[in-house]
Amino acid sequence: MNRLSPEAIQSYSGQRRKMVEEQLVERGVRDLRVLEAMSRVPRHLFAQDSLRHRAYGDAPLPIGENQTISQPYIVGAMTEALGLTGEERVLEIGTGSGYQTAIVAELARQVFTIERLNNLSRQAQKILEGLSYMNIVFKMFDGTYGWPDQAPFDAILITASAKEIPESLIKQLGEGGRLVAPAGDKEKQKLIVLTKKDGRISRQELGDCKFVPLIGKYGWQDK
Ligand code: SAM
Repeated sequence: MNRLSPEAIQSYSGQRRKMVEEQLVERGVRDLRVLEAMSRVPRHLFAQDSLRHRAYGDAPLPIGENQTISQPYIVGAMTEALGLTGEERVLEIGTGSGYQTAIVAELARQVFTIERLNNLSRQAQKILEGLSYMNIVFKMFDGTYGWPDQAPFDAILITASAKEIPESLIKQLGEGGRLVAPAGDKEKQKLIVLTKKDGRISRQELGDCKFVPLIGKYGWQDK
């Protein structure tokens, strides 16, 4: 395993604190566990070398293959909306850089994460192994199918957008669970929270957002 040095992890801690204060707390993210996790996880290690100096800025960043690492506020707001307590098994669709996977791994028992692009998944695995996360299981596949063998999940996070949240994924949400995902057209979406209670799904909208497309059988078609 390729362990990262404590210096590599600790550097940028001032910028990280500032990011949490100015981008998360000031915009209403209140869950202390989420704020602490985002103060700890070294976001710069998930950015491309040439973009490390922008890792704590208030914006998404390119990670290659036309994909992005989401803006810190969006990661905080989505993670808070999952309402994690530490006991959950979480399904994440869209590993991307692995940054949000790390945040969720800090806050839940186990994370099952799926990425359709092999290079991104491999790169994320390398970084997360270097940070010694032991509670993450990776898969390279079309995540719109979910992970039926491991369902039901206590929480599901989709970090790419479809027109509608795929029914295949809603079905894999356990009783009392929450699913957080963007949904809408390719240009603009709403962040949606679905909650399953007594077998029924309720829906809440958190606000506007813009994500890369969820490409697959139950998402947008690959061109
Ligand atoms: N949360 C990630 C991070 O912190 O870096 C950002 C994820 S990025 C906005 C969305 C990711 O979803 C991309 O890496 C993209 O390749 C992936 N994706 C899109 N469609 C997918 C699918 N059907 N299954 C799995 N991953 C998918």
